[in-house]
Amino acid sequence: MNTKSNTTAAPSFDEWRRSKTALTRLECDLLLGLVTNLSRTQIVINADQLLDCAQLQHLQTLEHAISQGTPIAYLLGEKEFFGLNFNVNSAVLVPRPETELLVELALERITTGDKLLDAGTGSGAIAVAIAAKRPDVDVDASDNSALALEVARGNADKHGARVSFHQSDWFAVLQGRRWHLIVSNPPYIAADDPHLAELSAEPESALVAADRGIAALAHIIDQSPNFLYEKGWLLLEHGYDQAESVRGLMADRGFTGIKSVVDLGNIERVTLGQWYE
Ligand code: GLN
Repeated sequence: MNTKSNTTAAPSFDEWRRSKTALTRLECDLLLGLVTNLSRTQIVINADQLLDCAQLQHLQTLEHAISQGTPIAYLLGEKEFFGLNFNVNSAVLVPRPETELLVELALERITTGDKLLDAGTGSGAIAVAIAAKRPDVDVDASDNSALALEVARGNADKHGARVSFHQSDWFAVLQGRRWHLIVSNPPYIAADDPHLAELSAEPESALVAADRGIAALAHIIDQSPNFLYEKGWLLLEHGYDQAESVRGLMADRGFTGIKSVVDLGNIERVTLGQWYE
């Protein structure tokens, strides 16, 4: 019997990992963890353990899905954001690291007893991260998608975060309410942006906005003064080339103290302003 061909048929964790040049080490370990049901530490410690046939087949299916554009987070069913593990599925955008900037800027402006709204919450990442960190703040979160709200509610429960959820087309069902902070990571990509091809597995309604990607941002800027307390803050994530437009829209609407803040990639990613009646 030829032991060499056996080895080829059943690679060790480490051998499999080294053969995957298109995946990062972390991605390999996450996939190995998924097919073996082992923790990341166990994967590292047992680098010489052999993969069985079913596990290899499972890995092949996962690699195929990734090559077709499925985010690894959907395959794993989770994604880390702001130090917390969020459940995700194809009903919600995968939380992005740059959105942590929005959370940080909101946390800098929050005080005890404040009310905060996350409009278009998706997986709930922003609202839950803030509510988990600041249980002394009242957090509301809205989304138009019932499926997204299901994911977001699950994430609030998972992290013991107190968040009130509302199914709403932006502010539609929130008339009469007021908040000290309104934060949003709305869809902001133009329908003809070539970058969208890489995001085909994620919900289009969470990514694409009319008017070259600015429509949702413009709607929130226009409406939010009706829902902000005096001196309340509006904080918006936007695309890499939208900061100037967003600052202009906020200035035209009467916001003050408007500024844009760069993300880790040195791109103006969040613009904020304060509302004085
Ligand atoms: N930042 C995301 C991306 O470019 C888009 C998120 C959004 O449209 N709100 O991949």
